[in-house]
Amino acid sequence: MILDHYRRPRNKGTLENADASVEMRNPLCGDEITLQVAFAGDGVADLRFSGRGCSISQASASMMTQLVKGKSTGEIDALRKRFRELMLGDQSVVSDEQLGSLRALSGVARFPARVKCALLAWNALESAMATRG
Ligand code: ZN
Repeated sequence: MILDHYRRPRNKGTLENADASVEMRNPLCGDEITLQVAFAGDGVADLRFSGRGCSISQASASMMTQLVKGKSTGEIDALRKRFRELMLGDQSVVSDEQLGSLRALSGVARFPARVKCALLAWNALESAMATRG
């Protein structure tokens, strides 16, 4: 699952008419991501990411964009919180179907150095959504 998203990333590229664009790096691993988001109503209408880095950072970004597209701010906040809990080792989250393919990253919790890779795209999203004010 992780390699599939790494090799065939979803929502990769640039977004015309993006409302927010955020660049974020994970210096520990060398991961880089640029996230572009278009808002609509109370949520995310569309988003794209570009960047480079390890398979975990890129797969997590691909999965995240797929999951949050079309969701409201409240739903996205809840998903981000749940995913963070999963990365902090809360294995009860593994059965939470709302996280979709992101559950494939549950094993990352055993490797604290890689947790930052998995959270990079989510941190970029949080930052992009904060620009809405
Ligand atoms: Zn990484």
